[in-house]
This record gives sequence, C-alpha cells and structure tokens, in this order.
Amino acid sequence: MAVQDADTNLLNLSFNEFDLKLKEYAKEFNVPIIKDGGLALLEQTIMLKRPKRILEIGTAIGYSAIRMNRLIGSEIYTIERNIDMYNEALKNVKALNKENEIHIIFKDALEAFDDVKNLEFDMIFIDAAKAQYMKFFNLYTPLLTKNGVVFCDNMLFHGLVLDEANYDNLSRSVRGLARKLKAFHDELLSNKDYKTSVFDIGDGVSISIKL
Ligand code: SAH
Ligand code: MG
Repeated sequence: MAVQDADTNLLNLSFNEFDLKLKEYAKEFNVPIIKDGGLALLEQTIMLKRPKRILEIGTAIGYSAIRMNRLIGSEIYTIERNIDMYNEALKNVKALNKENEIHIIFKDALEAFDDVKNLEFDMIFIDAAKAQYMKFFNLYTPLLTKNGVVFCDNMLFHGLVLDEANYDNLSRSVRGLARKLKAFHDELLSNKDYKTSVFDIGDGVSISIKL
C-alpha cells in the first residue's frame, strides 16, 4: 500500500519503507524511539485490548504514534515538548494524511492536562522524561477507562534500574534516574488498583491493567 504524501520525499513509500525511513532518521539524530521488542509487545497489547483512544506522553518524531494508530485505527493523542521533534512528527503524520486520527499536542506533558481532560483513554503509553513517570501516571490515569492499560517504555533503562548493587558506579544524574524509575517500578507493582507486569524486552516495558 502506498503512503500518500504532500511535499516530502516520503512520497509513494510502502509502510515498511516509511517505517525504515523514520528509524534511519532516529538513528542519525539520536532520537530514542521504542525498540523493536518493546514495539512488538505494544502492538500485541493493542491487538488484544483494541483501544479506541490512546494517550501517548512523548511523541518524538511520531514513530510509535504512527505504529500504534496503524493497527486498528486507534485515535491517538500524543504530547511533545520539543519544538523540533513536534515539527518532525507533524511532518510525518501529514505525510500519511493522518492528522485527523493522530493529534499532536505541543506542550510539556505536565501542563497539557486541560487539553485532554474531557476525553477518556483506553490506553496510556508513557515514554517521556524518565524522572517524571510517576507524575505522568498520577496526572493522566484518572482519564483511563476501566480495564484500561498503562504501557511504559524504558522501565529497565539499559538494565540499570534493577541492578541496585551497581548504583554507586553510575554518574550522579544516571543514578538519580535509575532511582526514580525504581521507585516508580515499586509503586506500580504494589499499586492494588492495577495488575502490573514488567518485561525485560527492548529497554524494559511494563503493562499495568486497571482493575
Ligand atoms: N514515543 C516515541 C519516543 C519518545 S522519546 C517513539 O517511540 O517513537 C521521548 C520524547 O519525550 C522526546 O522527544 C522528549 O522531547 C519528550 N519529552 C520528554 N519529557 C517530556 C515532557 N515532560 N513533556 C512532553 N514531552 C516530553
Ligand atoms: Mg522509550
């Protein structure tokens, strides 16, 4: 199937080629898009859950938003605070003519609640600043439907999070992030309102199902 396009060199690419272009771009400019293993689990979660609407925190160039939307046409609201990322994502979404299904909000996610507060989401994908996962979770899960799913990427952060014996060897900033993710991890696993599992796949992903 050909990708329809406006004015970019993405014209007439198959979805496969389009995805590869985005992955190449991410590699060249060091954009941390979701790894293939994490994406595979994300896709299967969507096929099982069949969410009508998904909230994503952390758009980057729109790669995961586009991949999530493609499966069953879930409506995506995605939040990005970096102007260059936002513009690149918008370009990619427009190249696919998906502006009506993938809505990109250019804001810090901690300040974007009002933009989506009247909506309900069947799934929330958290994939932005790791130090803020707990805040994102607390801010946005009131909008999650019953039996909704929270999916988080980078939960193991290159394997550093659970290797507490090694924390002393990390730089102070990396140690801080590892500690914050570990605290979030523990909080999720002990949260009685959710059934959570953490998977050592990609950069570590968690799936939490609201009970
Ligand atoms: N989900 C994307 C990758 C996101 S990378 C994919 O897999 O394709 C993380 C992105 O989150 C970066 O672009 C960064 O600018 C953005 N980000 C980090 N903290 C944020 C915040 N507080 N609000 C909005 N965006 C944020
Ligand atoms: Mg990620």
